[in-house]
Amino acid sequence: MSYVFTPAPAATVPVVGSDALFPVHRIYCVGRNYAEHAKEMGHSGREAPFFFMKPADTVLVVTEGTTGEMPYPTLTKDLHHEIELVVALGKGGKNIKAADAAAHIFGYAVGLDMTRRDLQAEAKKLGRPWDIAKGFDFSAPITPIVPADKAGDVNNAAIWLNVNGAKRQASEVTQLIWNIAETIEALSQAWELQAGDLIFSGTPEGVAAVSKGDVLEGGVAGLPALKVKLV
Ligand code: MN
Repeated sequence: MSYVFTPAPAATVPVVGSDALFPVHRIYCVGRNYAEHAKEMGHSGREAPFFFMKPADTVLVVTEGTTGEMPYPTLTKDLHHEIELVVALGKGGKNIKAADAAAHIFGYAVGLDMTRRDLQAEAKKLGRPWDIAKGFDFSAPITPIVPADKAGDVNNAAIWLNVNGAKRQASEVTQLIWNIAETIEALSQAWELQAGDLIFSGTPEGVAAVSKGDVLEGGVAGLPALKVKLV
């Protein structure tokens, strides 16, 4: 058996403390999962969790101590940052109960769900899909993955993002509307999850625009910091 052309290499993320790479299967993202962010987006109350995806090859890996370079994307004049705790699955499954979710988690990383907000607003208005706003090339900067047993208590960690050294986002993972275990339960009812899936768990309030030349630095306590420059 051969291919009609050479397949693209698998998208991967390094693992802290290992030479082995984490192969990315899918990237699921949770929408409006912090109450104060839901409010700033014009919503209130506890909605049922909802999801969108980014293609696996949108990951832009940035190792600790380096500054990743993200090309400012085309077609937008309103590129927003969304700092997020990312969950990396080491074991898949369907209809996973929240109480059993921890056994499916390989580790955690810090990610940016970069968003062409103007295109998202247009899509919402016209009832169109969000893909062009969320799933564009290099839209998922991410740190290496820390194995769960070395990641500390991420469910109770601070989450933050500075732009050019000034505070933009600062909250706690405890503020998630749907926590990590509940998110895995809900996702696994809609899709059969697989080892290699990444889950961007949502962003706290404070999302705003960034420009070419800006340096974004953010993190979740207990995980590597993520530093990205827009070029
Ligand atoms: Mn997001």
